[in-house]
Amino acid sequence: HKLEKAHAADSTPTFSFEFFVPKTSQGVNNLYDRMDRMYQLGPQFIDITWNAGGRLSNLTNEMVATAQSALGLETCMHLTCTGMPKQLVENALQSAFDGGCQNILALRGDPPVESEKWEAVDGGFRYAKDLVKYIKSKYGDYFDIGVAAYPEGTPEEPDVDILIDHLKEKVDAGGTFIVTQMFYDTDNFLKWVDKCRAKGINVPIIPGIMPISTYASFMRRANWCQIQIPQDFLDQLEPVKDDDMRVRELGTQLVADMCQKMLDSGKIKHLHFYTMNLEKATVMVLERLNLPAQDSAVAPLPWRPSLALGRQ
Ligand code: FAD
Repeated sequence: HKLEKAHAADSTPTFSFEFFVPKTSQGVNNLYDRMDRMYQLGPQFIDITWNAGGRLSNLTNEMVATAQSALGLETCMHLTCTGMPKQLVENALQSAFDGGCQNILALRGDPPVESEKWEAVDGGFRYAKDLVKYIKSKYGDYFDIGVAAYPEGTPEEPDVDILIDHLKEKVDAGGTFIVTQMFYDTDNFLKWVDKCRAKGINVPIIPGIMPISTYASFMRRANWCQIQIPQDFLDQLEPVKDDDMRVRELGTQLVADMCQKMLDSGKIKHLHFYTMNLEKATVMVLERLNLPAQDSAVAPLPWRPSLALGRQ
């Protein structure tokens, strides 16, 4: 009976929440209340984003340490590596280490708008994989190291196969789990997962889910990331676009359906929500999915994505 229970718990889908760093200390303090409330939902971990170039890095460091040690949330710190002094990267890693945080999402960062491509700062990092290697060399296996992936390509590199090759390089350098860019085309995503597996990428893949709050923000974000919007999303949302409540209701069902399809495929065990620091839209999707499951308990710390979700 015990084994059965363990197995049931093992197959219960898990989830995590991403928060971004508000611009001010006051904003940070307001967010703690929300994070504390959302903790009651039982996320396995939360992410705190990093501002490219290291803007507000002190607030990121503070939030990571507070979430991890004061709020008791397993925390993953995002860290970009280009366009800022290497010392800032070192300081951020040391601060995460000191605060008890054991998960880093290692990123390159977006190029500044005024220049088309990144030029590595002298002696600095060029690609996310350089940061992965650096973290491994300095901290060994202390950190679980996540890396970013793009199932529909990026404006900079639309060729998905080239991106998968570069993703493999990041994993081979020491990346232990993968978090994706938002998407709404589930069929494409599941095929992309197969492609990654076929190319020998065996670490857990965590889909990034963007709940739908308003029609305008849904369209804006999808266009910004240049991702496909499936026709049935448009068919359902466009006619009610001025009615925020209807958009949210229909959007919740659409997003919950895509999550369910991924879970049913057996390829995905964990959902990562881009909360945009809001509670409602994410909570509505979780409710529709009947999560958290009745018998699930908040995992004991530390919860390591790479170990908990298993290699393929
Ligand atoms: P990389 O993996 O380094 O790839 C960047 C480009 O370089 C790609 O086009 C790739 O194909 C190319 N490339 C890689 N290796 C090679 C090679 N060997 N030879 C030639 N070309 C190569 N940004 C933030 O500023 N803060 C955040 O907190 C943040 N969080 C994010 C979370 C997620 C889940 C995702 C998906 C993105 C996030 N981003 C964040 C955005 C990210 O920084 C940008 O998308 C950035 O442009 C690329 O980062 P990367 O880590 O994927 O880069």
